[in-house]
Amino acid sequence: MTGPRYRGRFAPSPSGPLHAGSMLAALGSWLLARQAGGDWLVRIEDIDPPREVAGAAQAQLDTLAAFGLHHDGAIEYQSRRGHLYQAALERLLADGSAFECHCSRSELAAAGGIHRRCVARRPRPDPAIRLRVADGCSIAFDDAVHGRVAQRVDLEVGDFVLRRSDGLWAYQLAVVVDDADQGITDVVRGADLLDSTPRQLLLQRALGLPTPRHAHLPLLLGADGRKLSKSEAALPVSADTPLATLQMLWDCLGQAPLAGSAAHGATEFLRAAVAGFRLDRVPLRARHVCAAAHNAN
Ligand code: GLU
Repeated sequence: MTGPRYRGRFAPSPSGPLHAGSMLAALGSWLLARQAGGDWLVRIEDIDPPREVAGAAQAQLDTLAAFGLHHDGAIEYQSRRGHLYQAALERLLADGSAFECHCSRSELAAAGGIHRRCVARRPRPDPAIRLRVADGCSIAFDDAVHGRVAQRVDLEVGDFVLRRSDGLWAYQLAVVVDDADQGITDVVRGADLLDSTPRQLLLQRALGLPTPRHAHLPLLLGADGRKLSKSEAALPVSADTPLATLQMLWDCLGQAPLAGSAAHGATEFLRAAVAGFRLDRVPLRARHVCAAAHNAN
């Protein structure tokens, strides 16, 4: 029996230009989708207007195109999909999986960051909606890069927000609804989201949605082996030198040099890369040379 056709995606938030870390995720998910002969979708996660930078979504799409990472199908924008999140939320509220939380900031702070149930002394007109996480709730999954990952969601996360008190949708709900609606079979993204995955699995179960496979790609490290600083990490990739950047990202993904492809352009490189990409070579952490190459870019 064969499973559904492979469908991957890249889902940037339009909070700035694509930097090397986000391009690493884009390239890795694109390579795996192409290698599987599947689809690769792009979804703009623009549900957080205060963090959005005008023009960033288009700049991100232009960068993907300049690098030759072409997508399939229409680009989806989360800002236009609120009705789907609303429908999911109503289901979760109706069956008791979600609840209104009237806690104030100070009541939340008193809970020490891990929120368990609503302890508000008085109702507020604009409650947040949270998912009820059962005591002892432990979620585990097999990541293609990190192996078995487990999280005690009740102790490490608590009852988490689905819709904020200011009415904005939480990333966790939107991503789960969209991945299911778009038939995503494989979520390939940066390891900064590894600890979000158990929440997403929990939501998928609560909504009766299928769970995709996961591969979390390494975060880029600075030359000193530490995480890139915010300003370093935010450096945009240059669309003027796609081949050099693709080679740097390929190296960060732990891949063996591609014979003969360097002399040719980005298109030739990508063709060879699709054939040669090996997920089992991807390291947990990107090697330090990345930052040097990145900064020189
Ligand atoms: N929009 C998220 C980000 O830019 C990524 C979401 C995902 O890949 O699940 O960090």
